[in-house]
Amino acid sequence: MHFSDIQRVPGDPILGLIEAYANDTNPNKFDLGVGVYKDAQGLTTIPRAVKLAEQRLVDKQLTKTYIGGHGEPRFGTLISQLVLGDNSPLLAARRVSATQTPGGTGALRLSGDFIAECLPGRGIWLSDPTWPIHETIFAKAGLKVSHYPYVDRENRLTVDAMLAAFETIPSGDVVLLHACCHNPTGFDLGHEDWKRVLEVVRRRNLLPLIDFAYQGFGDGLEEDAWAARLFAAELPELLITSSCSKNFGLYRERTGALIVCCADAEKSLDVRSQLSSIARNLWSNPPDHGAAVVAEILGDAELKQLWAEEVEEMRQRIAQLRSGLVQALTPLGLGQRFAHIAQQRGMFSYTGLNDDQVARLRHEHSVYMVNAGRANVAGIDATRLHALAAAIAAVC
Ligand code: PMP
Repeated sequence: MHFSDIQRVPGDPILGLIEAYANDTNPNKFDLGVGVYKDAQGLTTIPRAVKLAEQRLVDKQLTKTYIGGHGEPRFGTLISQLVLGDNSPLLAARRVSATQTPGGTGALRLSGDFIAECLPGRGIWLSDPTWPIHETIFAKAGLKVSHYPYVDRENRLTVDAMLAAFETIPSGDVVLLHACCHNPTGFDLGHEDWKRVLEVVRRRNLLPLIDFAYQGFGDGLEEDAWAARLFAAELPELLITSSCSKNFGLYRERTGALIVCCADAEKSLDVRSQLSSIARNLWSNPPDHGAAVVAEILGDAELKQLWAEEVEEMRQRIAQLRSGLVQALTPLGLGQRFAHIAQQRGMFSYTGLNDDQVARLRHEHSVYMVNAGRANVAGIDATRLHALAAAIAAVC
């Protein structure tokens, strides 16, 4: 038998959590596990701007023939503008190459293979903790994966420890930074912190890879791009992976981009040629539909406005849930202890609850969150914040 030695790998713990939640018959259960945005009704709906763009595409699209390794050129231009700013001098100087990818995950994998093939010997440094797929994706691309501290034992952002670690990273290595809405912690760097990171990155000749998966979910579409734009303005070279999964609600359409900023237009063409050659061996051409939708939206003032309003609605709901939960915990004497939940950004929160408390919340109160106390704040039912706060208080 050819397959007899193949072992079963354990399932993703988050998928196990989804199943356990689905099987829980308690009508008052809470799903704070899975990483998707949910609206007030608990649904992950398709944004209206996306629906309208899809309707237009049905009428307009004349062919489904191959689109080429970099995908839809209009998408590449528009997503680069969204990330770097409409008037970015880098775009005018043709220093930017954008390659359409199957989601942010595809962009990360493409960047991993690009580093492995074109910058051999460079290691990659991830925040501890980070999104678990970062760990495996770069290892599978053959890179040496190391970590820099990000959150301390008291569940606080540790910028000093992070910067001290950066001083020891070998020159030329890649450092992965979350542009905003850090997954899994929700702790983001402030502007002054970013400037300090930039200083050490430049001085030690490190190559930043900015993972931008939640543009618009933190402080706003433009505000969230602040760090990526600072780095693009101040450094000659930079990798940015952009995902349209959350902010366009396009999750399963697999829409994203690898944006590479280069020192000049000529080098950007060299890099670009390498990326299409690498992509050719991964997925050949990227999936089209989601990118066509994004291009339709971003290329039309009215649709773009509608979409921006919808992203803002999602952002505000998350912000209100964050402050609402802290307010609900306050009369229970826990407002101070969980004040960080209101300061964190994006869908996720490192609550500071330990594994034992997470297990009790699940078994005694039907509150489902992943270990290390990561809660998806965007999964909270706003009308039941007090019940959630009471459950948390019961295990603290
Ligand atoms: N980076 C981070 C930090 C993420 O959380 C995610 C999505 N969970 C991604 C990248 C990629 O998302 P996708 O491939 O679905 O676009």
